[in-house]
Amino acid sequence: MTNEPPKAPPLYPKSHLLAASGIAALLSLALLVFPSSEVEAKKTTLNLELESPADQLKQEPDAPLTQTADASSDSPFAQIDNSSAPTEETAKVEPVPAPAATPAKDPSHREVTVSRGDTLSTLFAKVGLPAAAVHEVLASNKQAKQFSQLKSGQVLQIELDKDGQLASLHSKVSDLETIRLTKSANGYAFNREISKPVVRSAYAHGVIKSSLSASGQRAGLPHSLTMDLARIFGYDIDFAQDIRHGDEFDVIYEQKVMDGKVVGNGNIISARFTNRGKTFSAIRYTNKQGNTNYYTADGNSMRKAFIRTPVDFARISSRFSAGRKHPILNKIRAHKGVDYAAPRGTPIKAAGDGKVLLAGRRGGYGNTVIIQHGNRYQTLYGHMQGFAKGVKTGSSVKQGQVIGYIGTTGLSTGPHLHYEFQVNGVHVDPLGQKLPMADPIAKAERQRFLQQSQPLVARMNQEKATLLASNKR
Ligand SMILES: [Zn+2]
Repeated sequence: MTNEPPKAPPLYPKSHLLAASGIAALLSLALLVFPSSEVEAKKTTLNLELESPADQLKQEPDAPLTQTADASSDSPFAQIDNSSAPTEETAKVEPVPAPAATPAKDPSHREVTVSRGDTLSTLFAKVGLPAAAVHEVLASNKQAKQFSQLKSGQVLQIELDKDGQLASLHSKVSDLETIRLTKSANGYAFNREISKPVVRSAYAHGVIKSSLSASGQRAGLPHSLTMDLARIFGYDIDFAQDIRHGDEFDVIYEQKVMDGKVVGNGNIISARFTNRGKTFSAIRYTNKQGNTNYYTADGNSMRKAFIRTPVDFARISSRFSAGRKHPILNKIRAHKGVDYAAPRGTPIKAAGDGKVLLAGRRGGYGNTVIIQHGNRYQTLYGHMQGFAKGVKTGSSVKQGQVIGYIGTTGLSTGPHLHYEFQVNGVHVDPLGQKLPMADPIAKAERQRFLQQSQPLVARMNQEKATLLASNKR
């Protein structure tokens, strides 16, 4: 059976149209940069959905025949009610159309919104500037050509001198960037103004109903931060099999704001995740040497020597076992690893820092990577479609680094990762291992750490209480 990649979920582009109209009426604002109407970059919907297409729920030919009785209740799909997955239509559209050309009250100011098919010539014509002015502008300066690459919806601001001639023009090319051309005695001077956004902290709270991605979206948490959240707790929570309906999270994260509008996001500052009744906390901390890591609220490192699952959001299709019938060889054979089924091309990550002993073909394993971690541990990754750039025999890899992609090379019946874990040369069940931890906060920095972490924990408690109270009303 081939394992079709899940169908791409629908996109919910968030149109964010801001009106530039009306503002022009304010003389004092005429020289300021106006927010241009533009469509925010489409948010790609997360592909972390635990809901899986029906065909993924069928048993893999690769699955062990000696399945344990509780295996199905262990499945992340089994206990999550995805029959009524909510539609995530959170996109807010504020369609306030900007007029094509706004007659400004300041007689020297002109403002024109770029429409499809407009050129600098047509825009100049709309405000009564001669065609010769276009040539003059474009020929004045190499960078001035950027004014001939305006996008539909962008607003061009023009200042005229007392003779009605072009004095300057400027336009916002993004929330943070404005280009400007100003006439002087010796031609035009080009300027690019980059504004620095204000960074503030924001709070989000989510409850898992169908999947982490859907609840992140509902909570208003940007996609990339939902991914970060999964990464931060990836050492303690197995997002492939542990997530349950009713799990919840709190996040305080950096939000970049410009003129009252969110223009981007930074890091997760602190987070908490309650998984099956057990709560994990994460505090971002930069030590005096400048190294940043996430720690538990009491100062232990979140980072383990090994990642539990080398493929994000995959499904375990076969567990470690002493004996099972091999789907191709049709003989009873031990399964010395864990199989993770995921669509072809899904990235596979190094479970820990280490040295690549092999990146090449190895018999029934197909394309295989073997990594040596310190002198006690080895991990093996089989059936790969291909290797990531720079991953070759003898190279070093970092924990979490992508080493290759899910495939079905070698003796394999469908796209999956065969993952083995060895301690002192003996195969062990990677899911049964208690993973070694990285270093906690140094004693000398403990006080400094607590000074930062305690207010964050207090704020998460308070924000959550406020939110729950307002929901009850
Ligand atoms: Zn396997």
